[in-house]
Amino acid sequence: MSNWKLPWNASCLCGQVKMRITAAPVIAMACHCTGCQKLTSGAYSLTLMLPTAGFSVEGETQVGALHRDDSTHHYCPRCLSWLYTTSPNLTAMGFLNFRPTMLEDASWVAPFVESQTAEKLPGAMTGAKHSFERWPAPEDYGRLMQEYALEGARPR
Ligand SMILES: [Zn+2]
Ligand SMILES: [Zn+2]
Repeated sequence: MSNWKLPWNASCLCGQVKMRITAAPVIAMACHCTGCQKLTSGAYSLTLMLPTAGFSVEGETQVGALHRDDSTHHYCPRCLSWLYTTSPNLTAMGFLNFRPTMLEDASWVAPFVESQTAEKLPGAMTGAKHSFERWPAPEDYGRLMQEYALEGARPR
C-alpha cells in the first residue's frame, strides 16, 4: 500500500525549471471548472496534492494566471508551463497542488476524484472513482484521502 517509488523528478516543457518529489501525494484530482479549462487550454486540470515538505524546485518560477480565488499559479518563465499552485489555505495545511503532467514519467497518473462536473465539457472523461458536481465537502476529504492512500494509482 505504499511503494510510490519515490523520489520522482519533474520538469517544465523546456527543462529550465526542475522539481523533485520525495513524499507521496495525498490525493489525485481532476477539475473540470471553466477556470481550469482556460488555465490548461484543455478539458480539465490534473492535480497531485503533495506535502510541501516533500517538494523542491530548482530554478525561478513566475506567478501568473490570476484566478477567481486566492491561488498562486507558478509557471516556468521561459516556456510558460503551468507547474504547481499554492494558496494560503493549502499552505496552512502543509500542501501544494502539483501538475503531474510535469513528471518525468506521468504514464501511471490517474485522477481518483473529479470536481466541478457541473462545468464539464461533454467529451471529457477522466475515469475518476468519485465525482462531485462542485467540490467535495470539507468533511469528505479525510475519507477520500484514506481511500486514495490504499487504492490510488501508483507508478508501475
Ligand atoms: Zn520551461
Ligand atoms: Zn478547476
